[in-house]
Amino acid sequence: MSMDIPECRLCGALADQQFVRAKHVYGGTSQHKFWECKKCEGVYLWPVPSPDEEVKFYANEFEKFMSDRSAKDRDWTGAEKHILTNQDNVNRRWLFLQDDIKPGCRVLEIGCSSGFMLDAFKNAGMLPVGIEPSLRFLDFIKERGHKDYQSLDELREQQTNSFDLIVHFFVLEHIRDTKNFLHQQIELLKPGGKIIAEVPCVNDPLTSLYNIPAFEKFYWSIAHHYYFKPRSLAPILDRLHCRYRFVPEQRYDLGNHIVWMTEGKPRGQGRFLDIFSQEFFDQYKNQLKASWHCDTFFVYIEKQ
Ligand SMILES: [Zn+2]
Repeated sequence: MSMDIPECRLCGALADQQFVRAKHVYGGTSQHKFWECKKCEGVYLWPVPSPDEEVKFYANEFEKFMSDRSAKDRDWTGAEKHILTNQDNVNRRWLFLQDDIKPGCRVLEIGCSSGFMLDAFKNAGMLPVGIEPSLRFLDFIKERGHKDYQSLDELREQQTNSFDLIVHFFVLEHIRDTKNFLHQQIELLKPGGKIIAEVPCVNDPLTSLYNIPAFEKFYWSIAHHYYFKPRSLAPILDRLHCRYRFVPEQRYDLGNHIVWMTEGKPRGQGRFLDIFSQEFFDQYKNQLKASWHCDTFFVYIEKQ
């Protein structure tokens, strides 16, 4: 029996440079693995789901899939609840966006879900437009008065104006062709315009520092094409001839990590805060960020 070894989906390096980083893919079959490339350090799903399988997944199954996976405090059962339970995400992300929040600016969010960020942009006096492939929240977003498209292609056909700011949160890793996706956005930006994206960091301490079998079965998702870190994303950005920088972020706290380590389960956010202190929790996060053993990062891309 011969094993099919891929060439790197990001840099094209040959099969002898590839190894299995994760053998269990959540929501995948026993065939699916995440492979890592020794040359570019990119991590990618192989074999690749077909475009047809993917369209069906996002139109019909994605929210159910996320609801099964996500923390109890995120409610995916309805749009209103989804917005309410994501206000902490709005507040957290705002810290990374605030320098680029300017009234009157045209902002596009790709993957706007129930529209909780669009609401925040609108409240700040910006002119938001959303893209959301899932049918589930589409009517709801429109009812709230937001302009919304189902895909970047649909927007590119109809939209002649360009944007000051394009944002996406936990979208890049879902995209088959990373370079083309970012290239299309740069085209939609005004000169001096910016893309701000939040991306999971493959250096997440739960997989890069601690050995937690239950987390390995949970983390690697069939919905993702890639897992990035600055070192593996930089070569793609270099080919786009833009200015860019990376900023580390740590979403999950010490309580979450202790529960993964001791019980092998998610949903520990905030646990043990009464034993330690907020200051201690903040220190823990700051050390993970400073050493780039953090669970997400922000990418700032500027059109020149
Ligand atoms: Zn590679």
